[in-house]
Amino acid sequence: MDADCIFCKIANRSIPAPLVFESPDVVAFQDINPQAPQHVLIIPREHYANVGELARSGQQALLGKILSAATEIATKLGLDASGYRLVTNTGKDGGQTVKHLHVHLLGGRPLGWPPG
Ligand code: 5GP
Ligand code: ZN
Repeated sequence: MDADCIFCKIANRSIPAPLVFESPDVVAFQDINPQAPQHVLIIPREHYANVGELARSGQQALLGKILSAATEIATKLGLDASGYRLVTNTGKDGGQTVKHLHVHLLGGRPLGWPPG
């Protein structure tokens, strides 16, 4: 738990946000500023700054749980046929603004490539 981290607060329910998925290790919620018709953030309950910090902590299995949650949510949102994108921005050049690891699930429209 990082006392200044907004996603820690969402995960521990001290900031209310409707959860679209909840498990012992992972929660997911709608992005406050959606970039697509469906835009969900999937996070570990525990605070890791980014995917590298999590992997270096020996928590690779948690990455699998996050990705499994993402695919389950995508299915629930009806995105399997149309497709979707999972992305985890890391650091300054990656465009990361919240320093608590999160995977974006984006779908519901064709997404451009390469990203800007
Ligand atoms: P990043 O830029 O770090 O990859 O993504 C951070 C995401 O978190 C952004 O898409 C932003 O809209 C979202 N976000 C930031 N603060 C909040 C918040 O308080 N609640 C929710 N639901 N999303 C947030
Ligand atoms: Zn955090």
